[in-house]
Amino acid sequence: MSDISRLRNFVADVTRLIETGPKEAEVVAQLTPKLKDLVAIDDWLPDSFAVADGKAYRQYLLYADPLDRFSIVSFVWGPGQGTPIHDHRVWGLVGVLRGEERSVSYDRNADGSLRAGPATRLQKGTVAAVSPDIGDIHAISNGLPEQSSISIHVYGGNIGRIRRATFDEATGAEREFISGYSNRTVPNLWA
Ligand code: FE
Repeated sequence: MSDISRLRNFVADVTRLIETGPKEAEVVAQLTPKLKDLVAIDDWLPDSFAVADGKAYRQYLLYADPLDRFSIVSFVWGPGQGTPIHDHRVWGLVGVLRGEERSVSYDRNADGSLRAGPATRLQKGTVAAVSPDIGDIHAISNGLPEQSSISIHVYGGNIGRIRRATFDEATGAEREFISGYSNRTVPNLWA
């Protein structure tokens, strides 16, 4: 059974926090336990925002702050699917709702090329953070070879509208992109 009130309460919590104009570290500290609570119970995400696509991962907008101060997105990874190396340019939190994710962070070498850090496995219930301050370049993929995984992402802006970049690992060359969203309608938080 889908009980959307969990998501509605989370939206209210994030809105209250953002209203106080917190520093990035404060946002990460305050929202990490709240996102952990949200992904701890997997009964609220409506089915239409959990559908994998055969070709590429999907990013479903669940909620966007009207002032573009934050957004909440459901990422659905089919088997073998993952992102290119990319950045965000705002803070971001990733909470694994279903399955498992594999995350690799990247640093810049002196010659501009990228250096991969160790791969991290994010199990169901785990929350991880990215941001320009703590490391903003990464690639995420499904950690499970034969089933879908789903994670709930929260960003400090309207992530689907932000002009940002994907990267070539060998040269570090940036390619501008705007991700958009996979869905045309958002969940009814008041259902
Ligand atoms: Fe990302």
